Amino acid sequence: MEQTLVVFKPDAVARGLVGEILQRFERVGLKIVAMKMLNVSKELADKHYPASREAFINGMGKKTLENYQNMGIDPQKEFGSNDPHVIGLKIREWLVDMITADPVIAIVLEGPHAVELVRKLVGHTLPLSSSPGTIRGDYSFDSSYLANTGNRPIKNLLHASGELEEAKYEVDLWFDKGELVSYKRVEENVMK
Ligand code: ADP
Repeated sequence: MEQTLVVFKPDAVARGLVGEILQRFERVGLKIVAMKMLNVSKELADKHYPASREAFINGMGKKTLENYQNMGIDPQKEFGSNDPHVIGLKIREWLVDMITADPVIAIVLEGPHAVELVRKLVGHTLPLSSSPGTIRGDYSFDSSYLANTGNRPIKNLLHASGELEEAKYEVDLWFDKGELVSYKRVEENVMK
């Protein structure tokens, strides 16, 4: 049994897609155990997107470089650098600005393999590369190229914890213990 954090980013809220997306998590059998709407403070955003987490910063940079290579775009021209760390830090700045600018909805989902299951439903970071049937693939066409030429992060609707350790950190960061509830869903009797 795992818990994982999902944040409906401002683009999902502004596009009125919260209900439709939430339904996808519910119908697969994931249990909502916490939920709130909020304006994210700069402090929370900085902790959620930590500049010190090398793997996260470099990972964003590397994914961007791969995408640029596939599209034949020169990262030097777009970012003034082809260092994944420099690119990652720039994207992080955009992310902090984006997530603090407009309201978001944060939820905690619980279930067996919840972290992996949610990532599968959410799809690839780049909506352009997300398979049809995934949330990002079905509701967005955004790409690194569109985002970076607009000096903004990719609008991919959701944040979802990447792995179990990250999920634990993020659930603790976004919710107090008392905000998490416990109850039974009917699947629990069927899927024993
Ligand atoms: P994920 O959200 O799939 O876990 P990452 O942790 O790699 O992806 O990136 C965090 C967020 O940063 C992404 O969801 C996306 O909004 C944004 N992002 C990632 N790469 C880029 C990029 N090349 N250009 C703009 N925004 C990006």
